[in-house]
Amino acid sequence: MKFNHEWHLKHKMPLKASFEQRLAWHIEHAKHCGCRKPPPKILDEMIKSGIQIERGQ
Ligand SMILES: [Zn+2]
Repeated sequence: MKFNHEWHLKHKMPLKASFEQRLAWHIEHAKHCGCRKPPPKILDEMIKSGIQIERGQ
């Protein structure tokens, strides 16, 4: 997966995003772009919720 610039333009992370907002953002991000991995806390929550994401890179 590579950097999806178009997706990033359309999906800005809110400046004071709550954990839930960040989680939702990273879930969508993982589907559309592979520029960076979610932070460990977010990743844990995604795994707990049974969300499948690309683990490569
Ligand atoms: Zn990205």
